[in-house]
Amino acid sequence: MDYQELYNQNKERLIKGRYIALHHLEPVLLRLQNEGKVSVLGRSVLGKPIYVYQNGKGNIRVMMWSQMHGNESTTTKAVLDFFNFLDSEKGEEFKQRFTFCIIPMLNPDGAEKWTRTNANDVDLNRDSQNLTQPESQILRKCIEDFKPDLCFNLHDQRTIFGVEGTQNPATVSFLAPSYNEAKEVNDVRKKAMEVIAYMNETLQKYIPNQIGRYDDSFNINCIGDTVQQIGIPTVLIEAGHYPSDYQRENTRKLVFTALVSGLYNFKLKCIFDEKYLEYFNIPHNLAFFFDFLYKNVKFNYDNKQIITNFAVQFSERVENEEMAFDAFISKVGDLPGVCGHFEFDAKGEKYSDNENNFPNIGQKADFFIGNQKFLNGKPLTIGEE
Ligand SMILES: [Zn+2]
Repeated sequence: MDYQELYNQNKERLIKGRYIALHHLEPVLLRLQNEGKVSVLGRSVLGKPIYVYQNGKGNIRVMMWSQMHGNESTTTKAVLDFFNFLDSEKGEEFKQRFTFCIIPMLNPDGAEKWTRTNANDVDLNRDSQNLTQPESQILRKCIEDFKPDLCFNLHDQRTIFGVEGTQNPATVSFLAPSYNEAKEVNDVRKKAMEVIAYMNETLQKYIPNQIGRYDDSFNINCIGDTVQQIGIPTVLIEAGHYPSDYQRENTRKLVFTALVSGLYNFKLKCIFDEKYLEYFNIPHNLAFFFDFLYKNVKFNYDNKQIITNFAVQFSERVENEEMAFDAFISKVGDLPGVCGHFEFDAKGEKYSDNENNFPNIGQKADFFIGNQKFLNGKPLTIGEE
């Protein structure tokens, strides 16, 4: 299958960028509501509708939920592309095989304010046992009513993650969550691993060695672990950083590709052809990236001149309906094993700034190295000021 072409044909062009709140989705969702594919499941803490999309008439029941963390929008974009795919000619086969139940935005209050948590400041992915929040209750009831054969739990991960044993970002990471402390593998979890093995096989062609395997420590308060324990194979997808793609439009395409290829290869009846073992060949997802890394920089420290490294990390903020990225000094020192999405070798040139000529943690990343000016972490080229 030509996934690039498939994506181009089905990309939902009304939706783009990082900041995706419910009002961005609603033009699309209301059109689908008129077509009878979308309805309202319930309301968030602040009374926003939580929409559900249903389509297909196959005997394999697939459920997905996205943006349970409000500031994780990449998979939501991919899910909207997937809706278009289902109504395309190629999607017909999928609608014959599967019945879909998809919640594109579980946490609309968090999305609006661009927070991980909901309006009560609760992390919905730690509320799957206590079910204290309306969003958690809505999701749980939907799972119980729909009775899926397979679930996709869709998230974003920060730019800090890379692939173990490489210097590559983890552009997509996967997890077949554990269902007990011992992290045992039963037929349910094997099935989730098998789906991931197929998705990984496809994605490796597009982003070789940029795929990670998420930590599988058991936490029953996480929704994936809970659903896996109930006995429904559950796959976690974490959309991550692709070089220079802070809007995550390329990652969006890769998540769409993962969803289509995982389902295309899905077999309901367990055929234990050892495919699932490929899951364990995916390297671990590890936190060793910063957005910026400046190496071999000279400072005055304790009245001595030293040459060392420092790292800068973006913090996200919504401004005029767009995502703004503010760069702050994050770490100073040798930083062994650390990579930067942007790296600069100062070759011993001196650091200076308008404060005390030292990169203090938390300070805005506006400084000079030698004669080169950096603004918001980035080198200014002549004439750019
Ligand atoms: Zn998340």
